Amino acid sequence: MLPDYALSCEKFLQCGIELSCEAYDKFEVYAKFLVEYNEKVNLTAITEPMEVLCKHFIDSASLLKYIDIPLDSTLIDVGTGAGFPSVPVKILRPDIKLTLLDSLNKRIDFLVQLCEKLDIQANFVHGRAEDFSKSAEYRENFDFSCARAVANLSTLSELCIPFVKVGGSFISMKGPNEDVSCGTNAIEILGGKLENISDYSIFDEKRRIITVRKISQTPIKYPRNSAQIKKKEL
Ligand code: SAM
Repeated sequence: MLPDYALSCEKFLQCGIELSCEAYDKFEVYAKFLVEYNEKVNLTAITEPMEVLCKHFIDSASLLKYIDIPLDSTLIDVGTGAGFPSVPVKILRPDIKLTLLDSLNKRIDFLVQLCEKLDIQANFVHGRAEDFSKSAEYRENFDFSCARAVANLSTLSELCIPFVKVGGSFISMKGPNEDVSCGTNAIEILGGKLENISDYSIFDEKRRIITVRKISQTPIKYPRNSAQIKKKEL
């Protein structure tokens, strides 16, 4: 299903990431299962082998190129969908302790089966980020939270920053036109500090990774419920 190992390696290397044989085998299983499952449950519009490789796997894996994640860190992927960006990250960094969260149960069902096939350990959460980050088990309990293509930076900050411990980071993976200024107020209110913006290209597509450092606890009244978040951004 994926391009062969040599070509896949070359593509990963063009983006500065090494691909072992073991990791390739897992990506191959992932691609096949994604495309097969996608025929009955809508997970992605991207199903052509080279596009799955570049736009899903290499794009997700590029998080590791721009963010230094210490050994055994905890990571929650908010609105993970079919596992992006965190499942490719976990394939390359099996030490990371992963939690996958999505509000759609059909996506969580897919991820449970996928992780079993890949022999990957993860914690699966079906629910809305704004509900789960209020519970003691999840609030300020992760070294990192991340999200790709879920919402604008203001909304995403409210969904993701409450999960992060003080000293940890929230990582947002975006297209190049993301208006960072729409998130600066929310980031500050929620206890974050904009730390870094990396602009880069995955082949001919421009991408942006925004890192927010958590510098103080999130006030208890955040996140607000989904209706309030929708009604007025912070
Ligand atoms: N991150 C994946 C990717 O890059 O392919 C999926 C992106 S998809 C556009 C957005 C996902 O976020 C959907 O799977 C949706 O169910 C989930 N989602 C949206 N709002 C959410 C919320 N408040 N809490 C949890 N999941 C949410």
